[in-house]
Amino acid sequence: MLTFDTPLEELPHIKRPAWLRFKRLGLETVRDLLFHFPNRYEDYATIVPIGEVEEGNKVTIKGTVTSIRAERTWKKKMLLTEAHIQDATGTIRALWFNQRFVSQTLKEGVQVRLSGKVTQDRDGLVLSGPDFERSEREATHTGRLVPVYPETAGLSSKFIRWQMAFVFQKLEVFPDPVPEDILDELHLPNLRTALTYLHFPKNEKQMLLAEKRFAFDEMLLLQLKVLQVRALSETGKAFSLPLDATETKRFITSLPFQLTGAQEKSVQEILHDLSDNKPMNRLLNGDVGSGKTVVAALGANSAIEAGYQVALLAPTEILAHQHFETFSRLFAKKKTTVALLTASFQELGSQKVSRATLLKAIQSGIPQIVIGTHALLQDDVRFEKLALIVVDEQQRFGVAQRAKLQELSYESADGSTSTAPHFLTMTATPIPRTLALTLFGNLDLSILDELPKHKKPITTKIAVSTTDREKIYQFIREEISRGRQAFIVFPLVEESKAMEEVKAATAEHVRLSEKAFPTLRLGLLHGRMKGKEKEKVMREFKEGKYHILVSTAVVEVGIDIPNATIMLIEEAERFGLSQLHQFRGRVGRGAEQSYCFLFPGKNSSAENKRLQAMEKMASGFELAEVDLKLRGPGTFLGDRQSGLPDIAMENLTNMRLIAIAREKAEGLLKKDPKLSRVPLLKKALSRFEERIHLE
Ligand code: ADP
Ligand code: MG
Repeated sequence: MLTFDTPLEELPHIKRPAWLRFKRLGLETVRDLLFHFPNRYEDYATIVPIGEVEEGNKVTIKGTVTSIRAERTWKKKMLLTEAHIQDATGTIRALWFNQRFVSQTLKEGVQVRLSGKVTQDRDGLVLSGPDFERSEREATHTGRLVPVYPETAGLSSKFIRWQMAFVFQKLEVFPDPVPEDILDELHLPNLRTALTYLHFPKNEKQMLLAEKRFAFDEMLLLQLKVLQVRALSETGKAFSLPLDATETKRFITSLPFQLTGAQEKSVQEILHDLSDNKPMNRLLNGDVGSGKTVVAALGANSAIEAGYQVALLAPTEILAHQHFETFSRLFAKKKTTVALLTASFQELGSQKVSRATLLKAIQSGIPQIVIGTHALLQDDVRFEKLALIVVDEQQRFGVAQRAKLQELSYESADGSTSTAPHFLTMTATPIPRTLALTLFGNLDLSILDELPKHKKPITTKIAVSTTDREKIYQFIREEISRGRQAFIVFPLVEESKAMEEVKAATAEHVRLSEKAFPTLRLGLLHGRMKGKEKEKVMREFKEGKYHILVSTAVVEVGIDIPNATIMLIEEAERFGLSQLHQFRGRVGRGAEQSYCFLFPGKNSSAENKRLQAMEKMASGFELAEVDLKLRGPGTFLGDRQSGLPDIAMENLTNMRLIAIAREKAEGLLKKDPKLSRVPLLKKALSRFEERIHLE
């Protein structure tokens, strides 16, 4: 009997090569196949009378084959199959190239449905390479909303649809992880219906209902996960770090600037949490340049004063380095030992050491602050008495990684599970408040929505014409002659193709060095460079060795170059608003007026809306609201990292759905914290965890 767990290789029509291709798509069981969602649908639902068919349309027709013949073209030795199809209103030709089986299936006199695009050649209208099936067959490839699946070489949508149809015929049980009463209450279809609607929708309404159901599932699982982790960390006790007003004041007055009101408020909130023996779980939600680092440092100071250790996690080596320098400077007077642990660097105070030496030191409590990348999360990193974990630019870690982080921190605290560290995460860009509340579990929020006073707003302009480009290049030359520096950022064709990335980046660098700025020195930074190389280029740029830094999106990490006043972004519409805002935040770090120029690659209204929002708005929070409206919450989940399928992702714009999922998750866990009464849901949750952990 066929079940969700039947391996695909046991299906009668899947031979070894096809099975291997499914495997390459990550599909191994019937369940995997069923959850292989279409990325779009072709609307072939309406059958058009042949007499009304028009050039350029995608249509489905139904009629009788009046003639069919296959022959080799003498020039290219291709097999050309030509058929004529007739209905009551007219006749049309259909052509196929190199499809041997067509003339084996379609014979004269057979009733067929064909779906495809209508084109025109010398002999009139023609359907070229249409999908087809005999009329007496159930509509699978024609005559309906036809799903188009993400494909891999050798596995066509047609083949996938065929397997799907077979599975639906044979499968008797569709075990549904979501309890029936919840589905009923929300008017959502059960799993069998939802999957049928998804793969064989009769109309758009069914398709949308299916998507809504799966979006709900994803959201429910995410909320369950978040709440479970939260509950776990709440069972732990944390070290209470006593409030010490005098010490806090001393630290604040030693800073070269005055804290903003928002910074002071956040510091109070954090220090208050830290003084409790319940683990803090707080999100510091702040705009670029709002000064999150120093707020975190004040938290760290509390832990150090009380004799404990602090870990700070950054998403990249460059950023870890910058924090290492900042913290070493901020804590220099106190003789605090700061350590750095990344894949390529291990430093203890001002000494470079081996990884083993550093791990030993951390375990015996020597460095009070340890700053690092993911390398800090490895199992052999043990602290003597870790009281606080700070995660910078948390959305770059993705939802799942963040959850994992919390788990790890919980386990590694004090070498036992009795004491959990306090937890402070910081955003790279602001998240709308409503969304932050629903997406990030019960995290408490501190908001930095105020920029340091001396900061001048950055002038932002969209370049419209080629003369604009020339003018802006001229402006850059002038700024540089006055001692300033500039960033030029451009997007990439495709990140996965290493060689192309290097080529594109290099070509852009050459073009700019030779044509636009022949007398200036240009540095190059791209994602395929090793951590050390990037480091070197950034350092050289900071030291003024280059006037301009040409870079791919990698420059977005929170690097600090006060002398850079210009940010030029090519094909700006290809970046999300929050990312654009991030880029812009790379300038305006010093005292001079700074500028951001946006060069659109091509024009589309939505894209312009985003660029215009950039021109009008300086506040990251305002922009985030716009981004939420234009692109949905996916943007704030850290897109790919979230592990949510695209279809569900699109449906996440529905804030109500998120809120409901949250409420249902709370209800379920309250009655049954281990979910033992809903075993199918429990299983679905562990598969969800696996899936998002694999990312
Ligand atoms: P982000 O929130 O983007 O991480 P940072 O913490 O890197 O911002 O701070 C940006 C810059 O602003 C740093 O150079 C920092 O020293 C400085 N800064 C932070 N707070 C203030 C303040 N209250 N007044 C002036 N400058 C500040
Ligand atoms: Mg920062």
